Amino acid sequence: MVKGTTSFGKHSKGKTHIRCRRCGRQSYHITKKRCAYCGFGESSKIRKYSWMPYR
Ligand SMILES: [Zn+2]
Repeated sequence: MVKGTTSFGKHSKGKTHIRCRRCGRQSYHITKKRCAYCGFGESSKIRKYSWMPYR
């Protein structure tokens, strides 16, 4: 049981991210149709960040 208020009332299960075809991460957003990590689906360019381990 939860003590007090819970803000997780609508945390229903369901996938939002699936495995990205390009970066291989579980970051491809199904409804947005873009990868949160590499930006696949949004642009043809690969999103680059310094924190990315490769490229
Ligand atoms: Zn990706």
